[in-house]
Amino acid sequence: MAGTGSIDLAIIILADGVRPDVLRTLAGAGELPCISRAFFSEGYPHEGVTVLPSVSSIAYIPMLTGQYPGTANVPGLRWVDKVDFTRRKLFLQGHRSYIAPSQMRLDGDLSPDLETLFELNPESLAVRSDVRRGLLHGASIVSNLSFMPCMFFAHYLRRGDFVDHLVMSQAISWLAKTHDRSPRFLFLPLVDVDKVSHRYGPAHRRTIESYRRVDRVFGRLADHLREQRLWTRTHIILTSDHGHTDTKQHLDMSGLLSELGYSVFEHPNVYRRGADAAVMISGNSFGNIYLSSGGRWEAPLTSEELEGEHSKVLAAISQRDEVEWCAYRERNRGIKILARNGEALLDLEDGHYTYGFNGSDPLRLGLRHNRVKRAHALAKTVETAFPDALEQLWHLFQSQRTGDIAVTAKPGYDLRGWREFPEHRSSHGALCREHMAVPILSNLPLTGLPDGGIRTADLFPTVAEGLGLSPAKPHFGHSLL
Ligand SMILES: [Zn+2]
Repeated sequence: MAGTGSIDLAIIILADGVRPDVLRTLAGAGELPCISRAFFSEGYPHEGVTVLPSVSSIAYIPMLTGQYPGTANVPGLRWVDKVDFTRRKLFLQGHRSYIAPSQMRLDGDLSPDLETLFELNPESLAVRSDVRRGLLHGASIVSNLSFMPCMFFAHYLRRGDFVDHLVMSQAISWLAKTHDRSPRFLFLPLVDVDKVSHRYGPAHRRTIESYRRVDRVFGRLADHLREQRLWTRTHIILTSDHGHTDTKQHLDMSGLLSELGYSVFEHPNVYRRGADAAVMISGNSFGNIYLSSGGRWEAPLTSEELEGEHSKVLAAISQRDEVEWCAYRERNRGIKILARNGEALLDLEDGHYTYGFNGSDPLRLGLRHNRVKRAHALAKTVETAFPDALEQLWHLFQSQRTGDIAVTAKPGYDLRGWREFPEHRSSHGALCREHMAVPILSNLPLTGLPDGGIRTADLFPTVAEGLGLSPAKPHFGHSLL
């Protein structure tokens, strides 16, 4: 691929919840003929890593902005802003759950210090995207509102095939209608695999059927582009925002805090007053936990308050079989990671991460040196149980909205108890390899691939460079062209 400005159209198809290993196996068995032809026979199939928390909507942010959830100031599908929380007069003040209709507030919650591909390129279209900042096309906003009843039924029926067909029909009709002045960037999130995975599990035969449906939906777009002779001038990237793991048991994190004597605020019960703890779960394997200190909520807590006033919470969480580890802000600087048999301290100094631990390494990184150049952070961890752990954990805590304690469940468990209806039999949100690994399939060669692995944040400058656009605000990606 030539590089800057070399294409007419860029398309990101975000097949929500698609695991790269399942995709590769099915493609190899001839079960996904359209995807196989475009990306495995003729194209370039790669894998990459998403972000922490690995949850829908939030994990769209890196590919559209090059930022991470923490630096974008949206550290989960649900969060509390402690500064505003006790001042709240309105029910939506100081906390969020991006489950419709609050999902419409995501754009306004994003940090002003980032720019979206839609802002960089006004000739963009997105169908049912949760991130919309900078989209000029009025029809895309209307279509998002009109998709809301569909998304409501998709959530409770745990199927998204009809949503995906609508998304693709809209995209193809826009491309056909605007043939003379086609959009230059198209963002198409597909939800079927995620919805079905949650209901049945990532390897269930019904989930495998949803992969086949995604193939057929993609095939409609591929056929259109080939018929219109647009294929070779279009860069298509098919990716995902997270993987999935089977969920056998639920740990009721709110119940755990209640048993310790806390009065817990959580969604959907946003009417509770006088709470001294808040539990905000994403995915459902990741949780932000917030605690008041001395009855006050004003600021994030550090190890000083957590290991003193709230030591029973740290002990209770870190000793649970269902919990992988929890992390929190160290008193002076840095991030502490606590697991049942060990604790670690992560810091960033002079462009190097430092990482040391006592007891067993909670992240099982197996690092040969305790100092890692930031530029090598992905390469040094990409093959471990927690890919990109240093970069993701550090940047998660750059947001004051990130919990006083961030906690992740082990595969096989989640943190949402009875509150999720219908019951989830599969989860994501954590930093484990199965949740972090995503496919990055390209119909054009990516000649700028780094040695140490790809992040979904790299898609932002990749699309920008292909279209000849120059990001003006800081981001964490590196162009793959
Ligand atoms: Zn999901």
